[in-house]
Amino acid sequence: MEAAKVIPGGVNSPVRAFKAVGGTPIFVKEAKGAYLYDEDGNRLIDYINSWGPMLLGHAYEPVVSAVIEKAKKGTSFGMPTALETEIAALAVAMVPNIDKIRFVNSGTEACMSAIRLARGFTNRDKIIKFSGCYHGHSDSFLIAAGSGLSTFGVPNSPGVTSGTAKDTLLARYNDLDNVKALFEANKNEISAIIIEPVAGNMGCIPPQKGFLEGLRQLCDENNTLLIFDEVMTGFRLAKGGAQELYNIKADIICFGKVIGGGLPVGAFAARNEIMNYLAPVGPVYQAGTLSGNPLAMAAGLAMLQEINNDAQLFQRLDEKTAYLEKGIREKLLANNIAFTVNRVGSMISVHFDSNPVTDFQSAGKGDNENFKRFFHGLLREGVYIAPSAYETWFITDALTYDDLDFTINAIDKVTKEL
Ligand code: PMP
Repeated sequence: MEAAKVIPGGVNSPVRAFKAVGGTPIFVKEAKGAYLYDEDGNRLIDYINSWGPMLLGHAYEPVVSAVIEKAKKGTSFGMPTALETEIAALAVAMVPNIDKIRFVNSGTEACMSAIRLARGFTNRDKIIKFSGCYHGHSDSFLIAAGSGLSTFGVPNSPGVTSGTAKDTLLARYNDLDNVKALFEANKNEISAIIIEPVAGNMGCIPPQKGFLEGLRQLCDENNTLLIFDEVMTGFRLAKGGAQELYNIKADIICFGKVIGGGLPVGAFAARNEIMNYLAPVGPVYQAGTLSGNPLAMAAGLAMLQEINNDAQLFQRLDEKTAYLEKGIREKLLANNIAFTVNRVGSMISVHFDSNPVTDFQSAGKGDNENFKRFFHGLLREGVYIAPSAYETWFITDALTYDDLDFTINAIDKVTKEL
């Protein structure tokens, strides 16, 4: 592969290399709506959608034209623009419980900055994260992270110092007692809990009833901040993300993916007392040459406006994904496959194990050989799902019911061969 001569593994992000499923990665030439077109001219129905951002489909016209118009007027200034205020005001209006937002360039940066802010605000060092949750590749989070790291079986990356690792306490997703025990063993030392309110990096794992409420209560009792990493769920599960869907207030919220409309954008947000701790108002430092970049902000604003103006969007997405879920269940049952399907709104995952998948451990029990055959079979049929059993599928509104039927038929055909 030419790419592998000049780029490690031929990819700029590991999961793209197909290491978990074998075979050669797909090189994309272009995409439109619900479809990807590869360099060999094949059309694929896309269930990954750039790992989330393309909620409304690829090359979505309002986003594309906003970027083109902006680009003609300069691509970066490193100075404030009115556009940044406009998107910030819209995000603050859409998301519950935030007064201010700071834009960065990726989900990694958003989460990394959120915990620095939490540590500065609380004057404590430790954080709690959950096994199988992924919050980007900054050092503090590469401890039992999901996503590509699960695929590769690297629970911890070389290069993360033991000093950093000791401040990250690990808990089991959906296990409140485990979190309670960590608080008891680390009294007055825990600055924040960071969590994906719906986990999407070990497949899709919904929070069990009372889990998020319990975390909120534990945080209140211990003067600890609750950080919702809504990089996947933000602007996807509801206008106001998981906070709105589950009616839970987090203290800091991290965004990425949808908020940038497909350009490199992340953000973190909170109420005033926390955000005013950030430089230049407060002492916690955080910065970026390209942060608030005009092209990125134009794409993000166009995307948020579309979402904000479409009162039926989330219901439509839910209905389409429910239709897909029903189809998958029927075909897998009919073909005698042991499986579990998890879903919240437009996030869905198929696990080749009949037991409930509720945390990292249970997510790891799926039959990976079946998954590999499933993946390659679907690819052959023109359906692209994530090349790893630990990933969620992201449903786009560009999908038609014909696309969904095509996919369900492909799933039937492929699972007959498993
Ligand atoms: N948090 C979550 C929940 C994610 O899913 C991801 C990326 N998949 C990140 C953070 C990191 O975002 P990025 O890849 O943009 O750095």
